[in-house]
Amino acid sequence: MTSPLLPIDPGARRAILQAVASLEDEATDLLARLVRHRSVLGQEQSCLEAVEHVFRQIGLHPFPVPVDVATLAGVPGFSPPLISYEGRDNVAAIHRPRAARGRSLMLQGHVDVVPEGAPDLWTSPPYDPEVRDGRMYGRGTADMKAGLVAIITAFAALRRAGLQPAADLQMAAVIEEECTGNGALAVMRALPKPDACLIPEPGPGYSALYVAEVGVVWAWITVTGRPAHVRDMQSGVNAIEAAYVLAERLKAYEHEMNRAERRHPAFAAENHPININLGTIQGGEWNSSVATRARLGVRVGVMPGHPATAVRDQIVALVAEAGRDPRLSGARLSVAFEGFMADGAIFPADQAISRAVSQVHDDVTGSALRPYTALGLTDARFYTLYQGTEATCYGPDSDNIHGIDESVGLASMHDVSRVLALTIAGWCGLEKV
Ligand SMILES: [Zn+2]
Repeated sequence: MTSPLLPIDPGARRAILQAVASLEDEATDLLARLVRHRSVLGQEQSCLEAVEHVFRQIGLHPFPVPVDVATLAGVPGFSPPLISYEGRDNVAAIHRPRAARGRSLMLQGHVDVVPEGAPDLWTSPPYDPEVRDGRMYGRGTADMKAGLVAIITAFAALRRAGLQPAADLQMAAVIEEECTGNGALAVMRALPKPDACLIPEPGPGYSALYVAEVGVVWAWITVTGRPAHVRDMQSGVNAIEAAYVLAERLKAYEHEMNRAERRHPAFAAENHPININLGTIQGGEWNSSVATRARLGVRVGVMPGHPATAVRDQIVALVAEAGRDPRLSGARLSVAFEGFMADGAIFPADQAISRAVSQVHDDVTGSALRPYTALGLTDARFYTLYQGTEATCYGPDSDNIHGIDESVGLASMHDVSRVLALTIAGWCGLEKV
């Protein structure tokens, strides 16, 4: 197979690698600054402003990309929103060359983080990043502020070496990767179609290239029970206890969806690719009253090739069936869908962008990337499923993302900056600033 990369002049290569090395401390500082923003759903604005500021500092002209529900509703890949998009615009920038010679590229990262969980379980406070043994600890370090830092550092290093991409290089910081993906969808539709999209989402703890990912559907099941005083609770239906019945049904569905014959070949070797998580439960009114209403928030994995909308219909049927369970007689069940309605996706290892990243990673680190089938999802799906653009994820080594004591290896973040800088060089080509 021919190389997916343009040849890079050895002097330019050396200058780029030196520039990344000279930016390592700045990169670590920037990561700490970004992690200090508690950019959970609805609170991303200050972190977006910080990224916008850095984009300007490295010579880009960032612009806001709003998520306009009126335009996006009905577009393939759109997920029903959880909250308003007012004041939460994505930030994008496009470097344009003097003379386009190479292929264009999108480098994208998300600023949103998932909640920190019980903060008292953290060794150091989740938004007060701390470096221990070469790793930075904090919510969002690995997922995925280190990836955003690597994008910024890669472009800054080219500039410091007196070079710039000889093709359009798009860069974007998006919201809602962790609940809808609508930020990435809005950006994809607002910008010109690139020749490839690369997202430095964290790897699984070893150097890896994403080759597939599951989809996800979020469902909200509301149970309205039959109220009664606890002294004759047999006459009532406890809305919270109804969650047991629903959990049984959901586990049975999960078991069914993991059967070998339902697997996409990319997930054949996985132990348990489809996971259902009962993530939240709210309900009840009084310790001595049978709970009248409860709302369960559920995350359901989706196998590639099995549309998210089909999973939605199966959940509707499952809830209706649970409602006929004699233990729930007299209760009312309803289900709503807000948040992820996301299809699974395949990122072929032999597509040009995947071969390009693998080749540069081998060259920079002396070790081969291993293919990774992800049991969670990323924004890369939009490009491959709905735009026909090659996309994949490759990023720094991570530990405990979405968990307690999340961390990223700083050496690996710097390696990813090197790999991104040389991937830009070989994919887009280079010209003097
Ligand atoms: Zn992520």
